[in-house]
Amino acid sequence: MKKPTIIILTILNVLVSFGQKYDYSYIPREYNRAYTTGTRGNDGRPTDLYWQIRASYVLKVEVTTSPNSLKGEGFITYYNNSPDTLNAFILKILQDVQKKGYSRDFDLAPEFITDGVLIHSITVEGVKPRTVMRGSNLIVVLSRDRWLPPGGKLKIDISWTYEIPRHAIRNGAYSDSSFFIGYLYPQLAVYDDIQGWDQDSYTGRTETYNDLADYQIEIKVPEGYLVWATGKHENEEVVYSKIILDRIAKSRMSDNTISIVTPGDLSSGGLFGKEYERIWKFTAEDVPDFAFATSNYYLWDAISVGVEPGRRIWVNAVYPHGAGGFDRVAGKAGESISFFSIIFPGIPYPWGKHITYNGMVGGGMEYPMMANNAEMAVDEGNIEITAHEIAHTYLPFYTLINERRQEWLDEGWAKLMGELFAETKGYPRSSRNVLNSIGIYNQFAGSFYDTPLII
Ligand SMILES: [Zn+2]
Repeated sequence: MKKPTIIILTILNVLVSFGQKYDYSYIPREYNRAYTTGTRGNDGRPTDLYWQIRASYVLKVEVTTSPNSLKGEGFITYYNNSPDTLNAFILKILQDVQKKGYSRDFDLAPEFITDGVLIHSITVEGVKPRTVMRGSNLIVVLSRDRWLPPGGKLKIDISWTYEIPRHAIRNGAYSDSSFFIGYLYPQLAVYDDIQGWDQDSYTGRTETYNDLADYQIEIKVPEGYLVWATGKHENEEVVYSKIILDRIAKSRMSDNTISIVTPGDLSSGGLFGKEYERIWKFTAEDVPDFAFATSNYYLWDAISVGVEPGRRIWVNAVYPHGAGGFDRVAGKAGESISFFSIIFPGIPYPWGKHITYNGMVGGGMEYPMMANNAEMAVDEGNIEITAHEIAHTYLPFYTLINERRQEWLDEGWAKLMGELFAETKGYPRSSRNVLNSIGIYNQFAGSFYDTPLII
């Protein structure tokens, strides 16, 4: 038994000495900073010196229709956990990506163009600050006596409105009365130990680089609308009728798909509780973003899956009547959550629930605990996109990677996880999807861009 050990040690020795002799790996200056200040170890892991900025959001928003708009008020507390004194901070105004005249990665037809976000008021500790808009970043400059020291906190009050855009870029109005609402509030940009402020503007392609935050949110919607959102629904006892509450409770323990809202319920009514006043309350802790969907005609299925002893995940799908194959989506979403939790990567799904919203057209888009997915022409397409968007739970959200800079990481992993799920389960993989991927790669194969991805 000695021989193999000696051989392995010899190989390791050679590798180690080779590594010492030839420092062939290129490390960008920004990463080096994290190593030299000691916030990350040489294997990339965070050390005891590692820090993240944090925020808590108390938000009140109202959705109104015709014209479609969102009105919001935010009370944000910003905690400076960094070792630096901050003389400014950045709020991301991502809805401006559909604003007239904005510089985007692609053209948009006129019907998708809006006036962007109107900021009505902003104060920091009760005082109106100087602000500068640069791309999608609202830079809030702090006066000298308000600079934020390490360990300090700031209170920001802000109010805004925007026209809910037609569904061009991953969110918006999908019909006159079905909306997926993402990027709904001014969100604090990341300040980190690698690049300092994330100053990259959102231009339509890659949007996610967020710190963890806590949310308390009240959402007011028109009469007859249901709301599905990130986080825990705090007033479901008030919002729903007894029959809906019973079905929800059943679905949270059920291995089989339960119809919570059926076509019959939509025509006969009886969805809401007696005290219902069109206000939905949610809370979420330790999540990198918040999104919600609302509609007055979507059906709703749910199922639950066990991912580790004593913990079940509540898995939902909401879709219009007759949406092809979508009655299978809650079940397939549950299967993929179970696969990712137990088989690959074998890390239990970190949150308590997931909701797949049928966005009918376009691709798919992930949000914490939610996905906004197009309806695919073939069933295997629906299975793939469902699994793929849930896979994004791990990257970018759970790992908090900078998708704005390293899109290949989260898309690569989500693609691998989704395909592996379909293959392991024996689901036919849609040739369209595989050929698409090959086609996209062929545009770059062998070219200047076909260098190692991190470069
Ligand atoms: Zn993806």
